[in-house]
Amino acid sequence: MSWLPPDEDDDDLDQPWGQYDESSVRVRPNPKGNRPRTKVRPTYDAAAAGWVTNVDRGRYGVLVDVDEHHGGRVITATKARELGKKAVVTGDHVSLVGDISGDEGSLARIVRVAERTTLLRRSADDSDEVERVIVANADQMLVVVAAADPEPRTRLIDRYLVAAFDAGLDPILCITKTDLADPQPFLDHFACLDLRIVTSAVTDVPVALFDEVLRDKVTVTVGHSGVGKSTLVNALTGSTRAVGVVNTVTGRGRHTSSSSIAIRVTGGGWIIDTPGVRSFGLGHVEPANVFRAFASHAVPVAPPRDGIPLDQAHDWEIVDRVHDGELGATGVERLDSFRALLTGMGEHDPGAA
Ligand code: GDP
Repeated sequence: MSWLPPDEDDDDLDQPWGQYDESSVRVRPNPKGNRPRTKVRPTYDAAAAGWVTNVDRGRYGVLVDVDEHHGGRVITATKARELGKKAVVTGDHVSLVGDISGDEGSLARIVRVAERTTLLRRSADDSDEVERVIVANADQMLVVVAAADPEPRTRLIDRYLVAAFDAGLDPILCITKTDLADPQPFLDHFACLDLRIVTSAVTDVPVALFDEVLRDKVTVTVGHSGVGKSTLVNALTGSTRAVGVVNTVTGRGRHTSSSSIAIRVTGGGWIIDTPGVRSFGLGHVEPANVFRAFASHAVPVAPPRDGIPLDQAHDWEIVDRVHDGELGATGVERLDSFRALLTGMGEHDPGAA
């Protein structure tokens, strides 16, 4: 006789199956054992240390066995189930178990993610407070912008700078295509920031200078499509990834994935390229962090008072410094740009795409 589940309806008591109660239910033995979950986690004392170099659909490239001669190999790993929803991103220091040989078909497991020193994040747009983690533990951000073709836009650079300061990264401004235009008028906009600036042209990439800037550092590169970022990264890393190829079907750039990848710099250090990251929504950023991107040492002299919109930032030092003329003519422009950005935060503004 087949067993039918008793309905909630008590009329069932009149039915043939009404004679069954809970004690009648036979629990099938579970071959997997269905053991109670334990809170005791393995300690993985023997786990190997690694550094995540790229992420691709649930598979992680992890650098292991690094030595002082820049040795090491990149192996493939998955994320252990016990890490749950915790994101593992490029730049994470992790612990690995399983097969770390890197042999074809081998797969290790990431069982632990070390605390991060810096964390580059972005939101889909300025009104979105859900953040996406892009890169962990980088030291600095190389903001790549072309002197021309495409025309440089200060607002876009402002966004990158805010993201860098929010992440705890030192920003460096890199102007490419200086063979096409004089970058100085654009650079004047940033006169009131103590920004490190490097200029480059494809005909004359100052490799030695870049080596010095990038040596022993982990540097995230960001930039709008077409600025010459791939050309530059290739020159500095010896990588041969495609340059300037536009997909004829979609009309978009060749990079559709948003994953970031770490590439070793010839002179030492790492570049983490972020091909899919074209915009920085700032919905998750604390407005106070925005200040630092607008004038060096622009710390608030008083915290924003309740009820006073931040774009009316009368209490803040940057305003005083503009009024005192200390920040020069561009200081006024910087303040306008800064106010526009703060006003936009919390409204829908997809930012720079
Ligand atoms: P990405 O989209 O930022 O990675 O840009 P690419 O590296 O693909 O370069 C876009 C286009 O700009 C390509 O046609 C490059 O050859 C060109 N390009 C890159 N750097 C320079 C430069 O310094 N000067 C000039 N004139 N063109 C450049």
